[in-house]
Amino acid sequence: MKRTRVRFAPSPTGPLHMGGVRTALYNYLFAKKNGGDFILRIEDTDSHRFVPGAEQYIIESLRWCGIIPNEGVGVEGANPHAPYRQSERRGIYRKYAEQLIENGYAYYAFDTAEELEKARSEAEAAGQTFIYNAATRGSLRNSLTLSQEEVSQLLNSRSDWTIRFRMPEERTVQMDDIIRGHIEVETSTLDDKVLWKRADELPTYHLANIVDDHLMEISHVIRGEEWLPSLPLHYLLYEAFGWERPLFAHLPLLLKPVGNGKLSKRDGDKMGFPVFPLKWVSPEGEVSRGYREDGYFPDAFVNLLALLGWNPGTEQEIFSMDELIEAFSLEKVGKSGAKFNPDKAKWFNKEYLRMRSDEELTGLFMPVLAEHGINAEPNRVKEIVALIKERATFVSDFWDIAWYLFKAPEEYVQKDAAKFWKSENVQMAGEALTATSSAQEMEEYIRAKEWPMGKVMNCIRLALTGSSNGLGIADIMRFIGREEALARFHRAEERLII
Ligand code: GLU
Repeated sequence: MKRTRVRFAPSPTGPLHMGGVRTALYNYLFAKKNGGDFILRIEDTDSHRFVPGAEQYIIESLRWCGIIPNEGVGVEGANPHAPYRQSERRGIYRKYAEQLIENGYAYYAFDTAEELEKARSEAEAAGQTFIYNAATRGSLRNSLTLSQEEVSQLLNSRSDWTIRFRMPEERTVQMDDIIRGHIEVETSTLDDKVLWKRADELPTYHLANIVDDHLMEISHVIRGEEWLPSLPLHYLLYEAFGWERPLFAHLPLLLKPVGNGKLSKRDGDKMGFPVFPLKWVSPEGEVSRGYREDGYFPDAFVNLLALLGWNPGTEQEIFSMDELIEAFSLEKVGKSGAKFNPDKAKWFNKEYLRMRSDEELTGLFMPVLAEHGINAEPNRVKEIVALIKERATFVSDFWDIAWYLFKAPEEYVQKDAAKFWKSENVQMAGEALTATSSAQEMEEYIRAKEWPMGKVMNCIRLALTGSSNGLGIADIMRFIGREEALARFHRAEERLII
């Protein structure tokens, strides 16, 4: 059997969307599952859309996720089909375009942008849509309508001509997709796509993509649904070249959490979640948030992405990369779009946080403490982490949950103070605190006196944390110690007006 070889072929036109990361992930899982190769190819032939920094962003995103190509851009070691950046392969493509012309599958087109615009508006005025194909090419300026002399003269004198695919007239293209099954499209609805441009001496996406998939011996093309409309042309190109076709699988779209349509950056901005794996700063300085910087663990991110479109067929939701590789199949990828649920994304991170060791989490929390000017003893931090990790979704929550174990409150929540800082309660709380040496003793003391437990405890809590919620008093007192508890209580007595 042919070796499984798949590729992720992004264009460096901006930050990689999380849907793109999912495409890379499914390619990677499929390759690993089948003992094959996963290749990273950079499709940068559209110089108008090129964005500096985007390629590095793609490489770093995949690395962060642990989606590691074994061949391609950024890979050290054996790269049998190098280079993998299409701009560095520019010399390869022209001869393939010429080969299509020789065999009657393509032609030179000389129409200027203005001429095409004119044809378009004329069609519109007649209530039609202009399609550059068998229906119209006979009256346009190309090597099928002009004489040989005119053609050679234009080829030499002009630098804005293109090579176009000659879309067959009245044919039904029969296609198969692993996810979508059999598909048929009439060629009369398709246009003569530009394959190569003299202006920049570069191929367009379609030609470069097919030539490279062929030369790189790609066995399966796994890509987003947005490329489905290109499939008939790609089928016909393989046929025209006389090459064996790879198998195709078009993945469902990632959809907005609410309403219809594709998940966009705007949805993320509106609802407060990232749509990019890493933070991105555009060349114009616009900043977009990333999952990494928002505090997601890469394995949690990979896990949640894997389940957006693929269904393991069981109830299992938590998968390591190895488990994903084991369980993955394209047959279990759905046809319909996968709705993104930001709450579920958080749930995944919470689960992954809980699974992490106290040591690891301590290592992550220490720098956060340092940022707040706290220089704490790691063993003590570890105990605190063990106590609070069940309550957190992100490591950054640790501070919000437990900051008062590291420093005294500066302020008190007004509404809580008004409710609990009452003369009677303060007196009882002060006595209970001073007369006992541990939280347990203190509780017994309050009980023995038959004082209102809740009121007294909330009064103490207010003094220790600045509000009436937080961890249990016993835990707080254990961590800060009796001395500090008393000191905070006296501070509260000085600062709070009854
Ligand atoms: N360069 C295309 C993209 O940016 C690749 C599509 C394909 O995989 O064929 O997604």
